[in-house]
Amino acid sequence: MNISSWPGQSAGGWLWLTLSLGILAAAGPARQIGAAPDLFWSPRSELRGVWAHYYGIPDWAQTMRNLHQANFNAVFPYMCSAGVAYYPSRLLPFSETAGPYDYLAKATSAGQQYGVQIHARMLVLEALFSSDQTKVQLAQQGRLMRNSTGGTLPWLCPTNPYNREQVVGVAREIARNYPVAGLQLDYMRYPHRDCCFCEHCRRKFVHDTFGSGTEVRWPHDVISGAYKDAFLRWRQEQITGLVREIREAVKSTRADIALSAAVFPNWRSAPERFGQDAQAWIEQGLVDFICPMNYTADIITLIGWLQQQRELIGGRVPLMAGLGPFSDACQFDGPHQLLDQILIARDEGATGFVIFNYNEQFAQDYLPYLAMGVTSTPASP
Ligand SMILES: [Zn+2]
Repeated sequence: MNISSWPGQSAGGWLWLTLSLGILAAAGPARQIGAAPDLFWSPRSELRGVWAHYYGIPDWAQTMRNLHQANFNAVFPYMCSAGVAYYPSRLLPFSETAGPYDYLAKATSAGQQYGVQIHARMLVLEALFSSDQTKVQLAQQGRLMRNSTGGTLPWLCPTNPYNREQVVGVAREIARNYPVAGLQLDYMRYPHRDCCFCEHCRRKFVHDTFGSGTEVRWPHDVISGAYKDAFLRWRQEQITGLVREIREAVKSTRADIALSAAVFPNWRSAPERFGQDAQAWIEQGLVDFICPMNYTADIITLIGWLQQQRELIGGRVPLMAGLGPFSDACQFDGPHQLLDQILIARDEGATGFVIFNYNEQFAQDYLPYLAMGVTSTPASP
């Protein structure tokens, strides 16, 4: 690469370079404070992905062209939620607003043309973007989560057998009908602690925990009473068990599809708060790689999360660091901040990164900036 094209040439770039080295130095003596060339190193093997909407911007062909030019190699577009699909599904209604187009076919076809992998993302349990009619129907069928005051939440209860059948069936139909490289599970969790207390959960919790004959004051005993801890563990198993069922369905349909998950960054608190035990999924061999959504502008927080994740993964699966320049949790000042975080992720042992999320500003300002250095040469995912 010609040195004149380095981002470090501009005044802002030098500031960034100095900051980057400062960050690396501050993070500990064991770190290789390698030399400036490391900052422009573009490895040959690395997943470089973006999370995206079901549609491309302005279309999938242009999106793939932009990504390909910047040597990105993977896209994770959401293609369905718990109550809507953006492809013709036998199990979910088509999106009313998006029109009857097969967005997944468009994405996979453009991806193949430009050598960019598609990992179809399922917003598994939340009925995001669903029509009011669908939500009313799901509520009437008793399939939505209930909180402790009896209120209905727009989330599928994971213990309800109809819900499990739908979710597993959707994963199977995507695997069967589309040449995707992977399937990613998102919203694979409860929204918070205060759920689910529906009738299915009451019966199944009592059955799984005691067999029969035990009286449980529901939901009091499982919220603050004697069975609180047992209930929290049981909740985690409802989610983990569903991941297991999805994996079996996907792998028996097409063994070469990579199953991954987008998960919260703090794996010590997420099991209790959200029933999401990423460590258990990894230990039980349920995911092929993991994408923690490490959305923060604070690099010390980022380093802490990555180190915890790497320790808990224990080398079992690749860690793909989710980074969030456009997330709700933080907004970056510019592409230099993302570049710093990519360097940190690499340094902490991540074998790839996924950016939240692809938009016009990312295509215009971020991709060309990264392509001048850290993604300047092609990489295989
Ligand atoms: Zn329930």
